[in-house]
Amino acid sequence: MSEQGIGTKCVQAGYTPGNGEPRQIPIIQSTTFKYDTSEHMGRLFDLEESGYFYTRLQNPTNDHVAAKIAALEGGTAAMLTSSGQAANFFAVFNIAAAGDHVVASSTIYGGTYNLFHVTMRRMGVEFTFVSPDCTPEELDAAFRPNTKAVFGETIANPALTVLDIEKFAKAAHDHGVPLIVDNTFATPVNCRPFEWGADIVTHSTTKYMDGHGAGVGGAIVDSGRFDWLAHADKFPGLTTPDDSYHGVTYAKKFGLGGAFITKCTAQLMRDFGSIQSPQNAFILNLGLESLHVRMPRHCENGLAVARFLKSHPKISFVIYPGLEGDKYHELAMKYMPNGTCGVVSFGFTGGRPAAEEFMRHLKLGAIETHVADARTCCLHPASATHRQMNDAELVAAGITPDLVRMSCGLEDSADLIADIAQALDKI
Ligand SMILES: *Cc1c(COP(=O)(O)O)cnc(C)c1O
Repeated sequence: MSEQGIGTKCVQAGYTPGNGEPRQIPIIQSTTFKYDTSEHMGRLFDLEESGYFYTRLQNPTNDHVAAKIAALEGGTAAMLTSSGQAANFFAVFNIAAAGDHVVASSTIYGGTYNLFHVTMRRMGVEFTFVSPDCTPEELDAAFRPNTKAVFGETIANPALTVLDIEKFAKAAHDHGVPLIVDNTFATPVNCRPFEWGADIVTHSTTKYMDGHGAGVGGAIVDSGRFDWLAHADKFPGLTTPDDSYHGVTYAKKFGLGGAFITKCTAQLMRDFGSIQSPQNAFILNLGLESLHVRMPRHCENGLAVARFLKSHPKISFVIYPGLEGDKYHELAMKYMPNGTCGVVSFGFTGGRPAAEEFMRHLKLGAIETHVADARTCCLHPASATHRQMNDAELVAAGITPDLVRMSCGLEDSADLIADIAQALDKI
């Protein structure tokens, strides 16, 4: 059979029931699993055989949903995490430890920036942040002998810069390290970073994948293409024996397709336990079933709102990569020809006070620390998600004090525009 379309995968991938089995993915709400012999369980602990033993590491419901996300991204293996933060932490920490270094785009999500710049730095991992618009030479100069990965977001939250995935992948590969791309905003419906050279993809499934503001979650997907053994000295965790698993060498035993996710599950999930609950994985899957139907509507509403704002005298700037004339429109057309996302960022001629007042007058658009929900919502990053940044860091992250991020939901665009118009009239 030829490869299925993305819509068919959204609906059906990851779970095929046998005769008389549940049509919907069953919620295996069990912490543990029963075996007839200790010998059998021993083989599971030695990673000699695959099977479930404790839901802190793996659960069948999660694995069906992870398999669907792997299919959507075109990867070889995937795992669910309790949040997008856990996904990005695991993806990086799986290959970079104390004494190592990572190159990251400077416009990444505030939570991820904090994780890297503060918390992981405390753990001994150093980061160099580069502008997503840097030249290949500037990007090249950011690498060090101990660099282990490159990180960026397909569409950055909330700066809405578009990552030139090919440029970042080339630099990463020239230095023998993988490119990790957080594909939360584009989703695999609009962009599949593996097709452009990315090696690992992460998601906050909390956003469009869930899509209904119901469950916090994350995912990590491996393309199966990065050759850890060809750069064995850089990735000893994957290419030398793991004493905590009876000397297994992940890259040899599980191959390129399975090594990264198996190590991440066996070591990091075992030790940190940031697993998604089976109940949340079930809810996530309900969202995934309609992802390909919802994304075009989010994009249609985003574009309609961006066009309206662009023509309004009280608006000083509009950032929306799907909009003609946007700084990132060309890159967006290259990487996301069918649409970008539903998130629009904009600023006010009246500055920060106008931004705050505008938000108070919105009726449909609710003030929330959220994006990518069926219901339109908005946020003032400088006073919320990016509050920890000083002015210079805000500018580097592509955020001005008057910037409002609006996540256009699935409502009628005419109603969203009417709501925005009445709020603008009041300021
Ligand atoms: C929200 C978000 C995260 C963090 O995900 P959580 O599920 O909130 O932990 C990471 N990356 C991006 C791009 C996000 O939008």
